[in-house]
Amino acid sequence: MPHSPTSLSTSNLKGKTAVITGSTSGIGLGIATAMAEAGANIVINGFGDKDAIEKERKNLESKGIKCLYHSADMTKPDQIEDLIKTANKEMGSVDVLVNNAGIQYVAPVEEFPPEKWDAIIAINMSASFHTIRHAVPLMKKQGWGRIVQIASAHGLVASPYKSAYVTAKHGILGLTKTIALETAEDNITINAICPGYVKTPLVEGQIADTAKARGITEEEVVNDVLLKAQWTKKFVTIEQVAGLALFLCSPAAENITGTHLSVDGGWTAA
Ligand code: NAD
Repeated sequence: MPHSPTSLSTSNLKGKTAVITGSTSGIGLGIATAMAEAGANIVINGFGDKDAIEKERKNLESKGIKCLYHSADMTKPDQIEDLIKTANKEMGSVDVLVNNAGIQYVAPVEEFPPEKWDAIIAINMSASFHTIRHAVPLMKKQGWGRIVQIASAHGLVASPYKSAYVTAKHGILGLTKTIALETAEDNITINAICPGYVKTPLVEGQIADTAKARGITEEEVVNDVLLKAQWTKKFVTIEQVAGLALFLCSPAAENITGTHLSVDGGWTAA
């Protein structure tokens, strides 16, 4: 029975489990919300106030799905292993994996603290290797899997003072292509989403840091640095990124693997 265009582009994740790293805030929480609304059981992860996280967990469960919180620190491979194993044990499967956790630090290379470099490479890049290496065997066994990597426009182009972030996000695109080839015949897809600027706590923190690094005001950072590159002159919304993640899990995206999709207001077209 052929799919109608609507069923092809609609993601029905009922009965599936989605693990979303760094989902206590910003884009990750938006993706968790969208996937819960599509019927998936959710495993959230990330840092933050205990009560606030429990409130978010309950809020997701109010959509009629099961939601579990796991506190794995993405710099710790053993905790990442426990995240995937616990998700599989408690929820019965890991069908969708969204590698989203990320941090940022802005400074000229000669002042860039080596410990910040190590943390960004660990959280923004190596954590994806660790979640993937534990999730792929489960996905292969069940014959279906969707991996969505939240990269960045900085996975495609650079900006000054973001050496670690740009390096990590470029690395994510390489990992995405490699794993796509390794899983191509297993009904598993892996793709990267490359957002431009989305107004989340991560970007709000960057505005102050960039102002300091460049010696300009915060207003100048928004208008002359962030939105200068974004030709639409609008921030990307969390919902737009979440919508793309959901699309990548839909039947219409079944043959999309090993690539990136930009949602950056034209930034990388120039
Ligand atoms: P955010 O700061 O709102 O959220 C980051 C999440 O990661 C939080 O839940 C935080 O607790 C979690 N996290 C941080 N360190 C962690 C660790 N060690 N272990 C586990 N969780 C950890 O940021 P955001 O803007 O929503 O960013 C999410 C992703 O989107 C990041 O990978 C970021 O690079 C990417 N991105 C963001 C933008 C943007 O403009 N906001 C643009 C492109 C890409």
